Amino acid sequence: MSEKLSFVNPTPTSPWGTYLQQVDRVMPYLGDLAKWAETLKRPKRALIVDVPIEMDDGRIAHYEGYRVQHNMSRGPGKGGVRFHPDVTLEEVMALSAWMTVKTAAVNLPYGGAKGGIRVDPKKLSLKELEKVTRRYTSEIGIIIGPHTDIPAPDVNTNGQIMAWMMDTYSMNTGGTATGVVTGKPLHLGGSLGRVKATGRGVFVTGREAARRLGLDLRGARIAVQGFGNVGSVAAELFVEAGAKIVAVQDHTGTIVNEKGLDLAELVPVSRTPAGAVSFKGGDVVPNEAFWDVACDILIPAALEGQITAARAKKTTAKLVLEGANGPTVPEADDILAERGVLVVPDVICNAGGVTVSYFEWVQDFSSFFWDEDEINVRLDRIMMNALNQIWDTADKHKISLRTATYAVACERILMARQERGLYP
Ligand code: GLU
Repeated sequence: MSEKLSFVNPTPTSPWGTYLQQVDRVMPYLGDLAKWAETLKRPKRALIVDVPIEMDDGRIAHYEGYRVQHNMSRGPGKGGVRFHPDVTLEEVMALSAWMTVKTAAVNLPYGGAKGGIRVDPKKLSLKELEKVTRRYTSEIGIIIGPHTDIPAPDVNTNGQIMAWMMDTYSMNTGGTATGVVTGKPLHLGGSLGRVKATGRGVFVTGREAARRLGLDLRGARIAVQGFGNVGSVAAELFVEAGAKIVAVQDHTGTIVNEKGLDLAELVPVSRTPAGAVSFKGGDVVPNEAFWDVACDILIPAALEGQITAARAKKTTAKLVLEGANGPTVPEADDILAERGVLVVPDVICNAGGVTVSYFEWVQDFSSFFWDEDEINVRLDRIMMNALNQIWDTADKHKISLRTATYAVACERILMARQERGLYP
């Protein structure tokens, strides 16, 4: 009954194509609410903006920016902003949709949104980075706000960038709107525990999945792709629990050490421009060899589409923890399932970040700040409750954890959609 969207051309392995197949798989479990499900297959609103800045050498450069609000049935839009040279409208659409599912899966009172700029921030000076951030924020200022759509960090964005976004929005609206973005520095209304929250959520859901599989974390071998805020924090927590990190891949390359990489030395080295491959305590191998490293747990914590059918066939992992958004293409998902590899899907596994973003937003509105223990206790409880409910749903219908997460989340989203009704 509905026409296909004309402004994207998804493929079976592209981000939006991946998302559409994930929605199709949940349809049989939606009952009468399936009537409303088409709403999940199109964004509510998508804004494309031009971001012109004057570079340090006087030239004028233009970048393409996006903010997509996928769904707001359950609350304001929520989701990060990504700075990456490969960002596209299609990618941001998929990322916004995964935010809709994720916020509903952990039952936060939000919809889903996402933003991005097609730019390589590593090629910009600090001043140029600030200009790009501020102009982009001004351009999307017509649709964001503390009660409408709240950005946050994502790939290549951080607390400083959130501070510039908060300041730009505040200067344009004439107040100090701390609640317009989350992931801010602590003294600007940020929350304790936010930086580590995503990695912590990956650990908490991963530990529970390992327990249910009978996989002992002591001595477990873990391979981590992406060693930023998500991968490195999750890795540290797993090492504290007795596991060893046998392979790490970042944007500079791949290092392996079957005895376990020393994170106390690797983490600071990986933060320098020379990256993980400049670490001396492991062997540098070609990137594709990362997928051949013998491991028990695989943590994709980088970009979409990394676990392809071919890589799914060869991994030795028994458990995949999706720290990244959309790292597994649907065909690979099926191969992993056939091979008995358990996948804790992105929309629950990495929901710790947006959960503490929610705590930050609540603290900003009440101007009352919690201590870190309180944040972590609440975070762990929300993640565990959500995961247990999803697991029960998976057991009941004999479906994957991903489809079960979509079943739990989409029921919440579409109930809200139905109760609100169509207007005007
Ligand atoms: N970028 C993170 C994500 O993909 C966090 C978003 C947020 O805190 O709003 O979930």
